[in-house]
Amino acid sequence: MLKQKIHIIGAGPAGMIASIRLARAGYNAVVYEQHNNVGFRFNGDFQGIENWSTLEDAQIFLKQIGVEPNFTFVPHSQGSFFDSGSNRFDITSKRPLFYLIERGENLWSFDQGLKRQALAAGVQFKWNHKVEHIQSRMVISGTGPKAADVIAKGIVFRTSHPDGYFGFLDDRIAPKGYAYLLINDGRATFATCLFEDFKHERLYYERAFDRMKNLINIDIQQPKEFGGFGNFFLPSITTGKDNILYVGENAGFQDALWGFGIRHALTSGYLAAESIITGQPYEKLVQEQILPFLETALANRWLYARLGNKGYRFILKYLGKRDVIEVLRKHHQYTISKKISYLVARYWYRSRLIDKQCLHLNCHCVWCRCGKEADARQNRQIKNEKLAVGGVS
Ligand SMILES: Cc1cc2nc3c(=O)[nH]c(=O)nc-3n(C[C@H](O)[C@H](O)[C@H](O)COP(=O)(O)OP(=O)(O)OC[C@H]3O[C@@H](n4cnc5c(N)ncnc54)[C@H](O)[C@@H]3O)c2cc1C
Repeated sequence: MLKQKIHIIGAGPAGMIASIRLARAGYNAVVYEQHNNVGFRFNGDFQGIENWSTLEDAQIFLKQIGVEPNFTFVPHSQGSFFDSGSNRFDITSKRPLFYLIERGENLWSFDQGLKRQALAAGVQFKWNHKVEHIQSRMVISGTGPKAADVIAKGIVFRTSHPDGYFGFLDDRIAPKGYAYLLINDGRATFATCLFEDFKHERLYYERAFDRMKNLINIDIQQPKEFGGFGNFFLPSITTGKDNILYVGENAGFQDALWGFGIRHALTSGYLAAESIITGQPYEKLVQEQILPFLETALANRWLYARLGNKGYRFILKYLGKRDVIEVLRKHHQYTISKKISYLVARYWYRSRLIDKQCLHLNCHCVWCRCGKEADARQNRQIKNEKLAVGGVS
């Protein structure tokens, strides 16, 4: 007999992994998704599951949380970066720097792979179901980002270029961020990621595209534009007063340094399920297993944003002579100096770290626009606009 029914809002990686874990433990896991399939937020673009923040390989991480790589999953240990002077730096690592995956609705996308695993575990999906009100007490909310702290603009296209990855660090094409080109099996993704000056997004994209075309001899067939955004805030929301567990980007779990949020989405979804199964407080699990990464990432973001083009060149030169994984992992450790940098960064970014997306009614977070600190006028406005994702119905 099935155990309790658990409502999960959002069929992103965070919601799906929570549903898989719960269904495998015998719970009646029901996922509500506003679209008629998974992966709607993405466009067949390639992304990376980063492999530098932890000692164990990302493959082991996936195994530990029960994810089978039944999707495109390609290791990359060698690639090239370009600085603002078009100097090329070849980067290598002993183990893969990241695993390339595809996002979206295609058959071998990460999203479809997780969906297949969820269906096999017995998860029920309620498609075309946009949740407006939460009435039940057992809810996991993984509705993704609502505000933009980082944006990406790019194209997906077909090409005959050999597989590989390329990165571009230059504030004139990607302010405080980076541009990237990922090529796999006749298809490619090129995008620029901006952490500042969003209103000139097209200008940066055009400059980035020209730079990429000048530096890489690549044919571009059937290009299709895409864009997206990421959302991070601290303190993140874990559990609302109403006992809703927030996971993934909906909770603010995003990598403030470069926007590699997939591992946080998976970890938080898994931990939310674990807390229901074992009775351990979700907040405590998050504090132990996610928060140090978020704080380190914010500290790193503050440091990275101070580098400028000369700093990027210095870093690339430094990385070019070493195993890049070792260097990156060192900088992802939650050391005393990172804790101090985090405090500085948190003060520096205090106005940006507000939970701009939190539109839940009666939520407990003091930073949001509708929590107990919020201005009643704003609250009314939000209710009137019916923006709140406040329930399962
Ligand atoms: C262009 C781009 C490139 C990226 N590249 C990388 C990368 O290389 N590596 C990396 O680690 N991360 C990357 N990220 C970030 C990563 O994709 C996200 O962190 C991750 O998808 C977050 O997962 P999630 O489950 O929290 O949310 P989402 O993936 O956003 O899923 C949320 C789901 O909830 C559904 N939903 C929303 N509201 C409701 C509602 N009211 N009712 C029902 N359903 C609802 C949505 O339709 C969606 O399916 C990238 C992001 C972008 C935009």
